Amino acid sequence: MTRAVRAGTWRSDHGETSEALFLTSGFAYESAGEAAARFRGDRPGMTYSRLQNPTVEMLEERLALLEGAEAARATASGMAAMTTALLATLSAGDHLVAGRALFGSCRVLVDQILPRFGIETTAVDVRSPAAVAAALRPNTRAIFLETPANPTLDIADIAAIARIAHEAGALLIVDNAFATPVVQRPLALGADLVAYSATKLMDGQGRVLAGAVLGSRQWMTERCLPFVRHTGPTLSPFNAWVVLKALETLPLRVERQAANALALARFLEGRVRTLYPGLPSHPQHELAMRQMANGGIIVTLFVDGGERAAHALLDSLELIDISNNLGDTRTLMTHPATTTHHSVPPEVRAEMGVTEGMLRLSVGLEDPADLMEDLDRALRSIGQ
Ligand SMILES: *Cc1c(COP(=O)(O)O)cnc(C)c1O
Repeated sequence: MTRAVRAGTWRSDHGETSEALFLTSGFAYESAGEAAARFRGDRPGMTYSRLQNPTVEMLEERLALLEGAEAARATASGMAAMTTALLATLSAGDHLVAGRALFGSCRVLVDQILPRFGIETTAVDVRSPAAVAAALRPNTRAIFLETPANPTLDIADIAAIARIAHEAGALLIVDNAFATPVVQRPLALGADLVAYSATKLMDGQGRVLAGAVLGSRQWMTERCLPFVRHTGPTLSPFNAWVVLKALETLPLRVERQAANALALARFLEGRVRTLYPGLPSHPQHELAMRQMANGGIIVTLFVDGGERAAHALLDSLELIDISNNLGDTRTLMTHPATTTHHSVPPEVRAEMGVTEGMLRLSVGLEDPADLMEDLDRALRSIGQ
């Protein structure tokens, strides 16, 4: 909690209490010689906001300290973070093993975009470490997974898969957007890189897109920085400042939202098929509780009657918003098959377990009694 509030605060000569917003694209120099020295790397100092910016670096420092990582790089969105983690690590001729259940755009990146650049990919069910081991090839350089996965809430055993990766000389990259360092610390469990959509719980108030990649200083210096500085998935200082301030309340928000999610999951479980890692009925509850501090803020439920019933339930909500964002202080609900996973082919969706009657609930900070009343009314309106 102290780090969330205080880490990465750089004060200027004015001694401001709140971190300053350095909304500048460039920097001016005392002399031509000073500019040349900074470009040669002989003198410290910033040169251009695609490369460095004080507000963005404050955010990176706070993120690294919260995660327990040696280094962090902030990016313009979560997808910029995932693309950076993968493209900075992999080259043509390399092979990637990825989780089958991934955020929709991550699946498109793995299945369609990386292969265009000569990177071979295999999607496996990462609930089974044996399936991950069986998918390895001599040229496997990385394993990429999400846990809990979106929206199936599949749990991957991070420590077991990290051992498999390291025996094969590969890196384990974990998309930790659903958990944040408040709930789960992949690096402490053996992962090599952690990537985030900071749009989700880190901003947590539905304002900005942002992302981050965290890992060792060596990977950052040798692989990540040359890639991002010259390709430009840079976070704007304004968005960095918004996320930096939001991190101050991240532990409070995540803990309360997870407590609300547990209450709603218990309520829903009595009515419809419900998945929540914090409930004993989740098939991987024990593993989840071993590596997570709580069950997280996402609850997945299944209604009978497919897309038509799922859409009817969404349309009868009065308090909860229909929205594909998640991690917000407002409770949001979406139908993954027709929104977040709409660009994933139907047969891949079926194999991932994203059914037509599945709904994803991202639990916010409202009074759980109000949320239950809204869900109760909506479920009754579809006769469930
Ligand atoms: C939202 C999300 C992303 C993509 O992040 P953006 O900030 O929307 O680009 C990636 N992975 C997971 C698990 C997500 O929830």
